[in-house]
This record gives sequence, structure tokens and C-alpha cells, in this order.
Amino acid sequence: MRFVHDTLPQRVRFATGEAAEHLAQEVRDLGATRVMIIASRRQRVVAERLVTDLPVIAWHDDIAMHVPRTVAERAGHIASMHAVDCLVSVGGGSTTGLAKVVALKTALPIIAVPTTYAGSEATPVWGMTENDHKQTGADPPALPRAVIYDASLSQSLPVGTSVASGLNALAHSIDSLWAPCADPINATLAAEGIRALASGLPSVKAGPDDLAAREQTLYGAYLAATAFASAGAGLHHKICHVLGGMFGLPHAQTHAIVLPHVLTLNAPHAEDAERRIAAAFGTPTAKGGLRLLRERLDPPTALRDFGMPADGIAPAAQAVLAEAPPHNPASLTTDNITALLRAAWKGGPS
Ligand code: NAD
Repeated sequence: MRFVHDTLPQRVRFATGEAAEHLAQEVRDLGATRVMIIASRRQRVVAERLVTDLPVIAWHDDIAMHVPRTVAERAGHIASMHAVDCLVSVGGGSTTGLAKVVALKTALPIIAVPTTYAGSEATPVWGMTENDHKQTGADPPALPRAVIYDASLSQSLPVGTSVASGLNALAHSIDSLWAPCADPINATLAAEGIRALASGLPSVKAGPDDLAAREQTLYGAYLAATAFASAGAGLHHKICHVLGGMFGLPHAQTHAIVLPHVLTLNAPHAEDAERRIAAAFGTPTAKGGLRLLRERLDPPTALRDFGMPADGIAPAAQAVLAEAPPHNPASLTTDNITALLRAAWKGGPS
């Protein structure tokens, strides 16, 4: 065994119903006295309940997917105008993503309070969009200092969004097993992430108020994001990045649709990943495990349902081939990537 593994410096507090208390504790630990809250208008009521004991001096509630530069600049301006000393984000990946870009420019610490299963809070990966181009990077200041997990905050997430977001988390685990910096530590985190997500998500689907199921899903989403943060982006993430950029497709749904097709392509060429995924699902094969899970979740299946045009398949295939990681388990060709994208576009079995 021979590997190099980075562990990221971040505190995680996990307790259902205790977010307000834990948030106040983290703000005290940082010695912060001028806090800015970043939360969308929809999440503002939730955020207001959490921050009553904090020294809040500024709010920013203008959140947009993929962090437009103009929005990041406005938020950064508010932070410097009020001499803010700590950012608190309350929301999904888009909200956390905005806090990350502000932190990158200002070096302010972030305390993240996630309300979806996107997992952005556990990674230093950031993204910002300008003129339809998404610039991304991975930088230590973008990593939240602390994450406050509270399963009750995701109870209001509609079932369909919960399923898509949970499958986005599952994709972090599965893709990390063949990503450029895959190692035995993040493979272990990824496998436990798969097990927890496969156990929690069907119960979230059956009963969105089931807090134990929401806890399992949130715990799995954190592990999956940690594995992804360490292993880097594999083929699946490169494909979704290309599709999101070219066609403005919704993030979680795109991941949910593409994942079975990437697993079908790679699993036969990735013996260790195949074994770990199947064991985590408790099924004879990885593909069979994912199929059984999806049958219980009724997730989105076709990219065409989200507005991807049929004539986008060929240019997307070329873009994926240009961006794909060099050591993907299956050899990549125009034919097999085109077939993968066509199947994901059309829907149906992978
Ligand atoms: P999102 O943050 O855009 O949220 C999706 C929708 O759900 C929004 O309308 C939001 O208002 C709503 N919502 C969020 N929490 C809710 C709740 N508890 N109840 C009701 N509604 C709620 O989507 P997302 O999937 O969480 O995040 C996607 C973004 O995160 C993308 O931009 C993606 O690039 C980024 N991301 C980054 C990383 C990373 O490591 N950097 C990882 C995953 C995702």
C-alpha cells in the first residue's frame, strides 16, 4: 500500500435540532463580533430562527445558481462595507458556493449550515460564473472552518429535490473511487457514504418527515463529499460539469441522471470499486445495487426532460473527451461517450 492523503482542517457538529446552539458556539470560538448571514429569501425565515443569539450586522439574500460574478461582488461589497469578521451561510450548494467565493476574496472564515445534501460545505472547491463561463478552483480559504449539520433543516426540502440531491451525494462517493487521487482512506469514507445514503434515501422518499432517515442521508452526504474533496473529480463529475456549463442543466438532477451510465461504463474495468460499491449496497453487483436503489426512489431519468437538445450530444461528447481524467478505468472513445450521453439524454435503462 502506498498513498498520500490530505485531511482537511474543518470542525463538524452534527445534531438534529441543535443548529442554533452549535452555530452560536462556533461564532464564539472564532471570537467573531460582526457576522454576515448569507441565505436566500426562501431560507431567510429558517436562518432568522438560527441566528437570534449571534452578533449579526449584515444580511445577503440574493442567491443564484453557479454564483454569478456580479452577485459575488455585491456580497463582497456588503461584507467590506460592514467590516464583517465571519460569514455564516444557511442553504444549499448555491448558498455555500457564494460564501466560498466571498471568503476567497476576503479571507473571512465561513461557518456553513447546509440544508441540502450537495456537500459543498466539506470541500475547498469553488465556482463562479461570468458570460456563461464557469471558473472553478480549489483553495484553502474557500473551505468552511466549521459545518453545522442539523437534519431538521432539510425536512422542508421537497421529496423530488431530496432524492436528486441525495443521488448527487451518492455520485460524490462512487466517482471518488476512480478519481485522480483515489486512495484507501477516501475509498473507506466513500463506501460508508454509499451505505448510509442507500439506507436513508428510500425512507426520506417514503416519509419526508422521518428525521432518522434525514440524519442517515445527511451523514452519508458528508462522508461522500469528504471522499470527493480528497479524491478529486472523476469522469462522472467532468461529464456533469460539461453538461451544466453547455446547457444550463440543474446540478443535482444532472448528477442523478448521469450516474448509472458512468457506473455501467466504468464498473467492469474497476475491480476494487465494483467490489466496494456492491458490498456497500449489499448486492451481488454495483450496477444491480444502484438499480435497486433507483427503483425505490423514482429519480429523474432523462436529460431531455431538463432541456438538453438532441444536437447537443455530439459537441458535449467532444468536450467530455477533452476534459476527462487521463486514467479513467474504461478507455474513452467518441463512440462510448456519445452512447453514454445519448442514453442519459433519452432515459431508460443504462
Ligand atoms: P441549490 O443550493 O441551488 O438548492 C436547490 C433549491 O432548493 C433552491 O431553490 C433552494 O432555494 C432550495 N432549498 C435549499 N434548501 C432547502 C430546504 N431545506 N427546503 C426547501 N428548499 C430548499 O442546489 P444544491 O443542489 O444544493 O447545490 C447546487 C450547487 O452547489 C451547484 O452550483 C453546484 O456546483 C454546487 N456544488 C458544489 C460542490 C463543491 O464541492 N464545490 C459540491 C456540490 C454542489
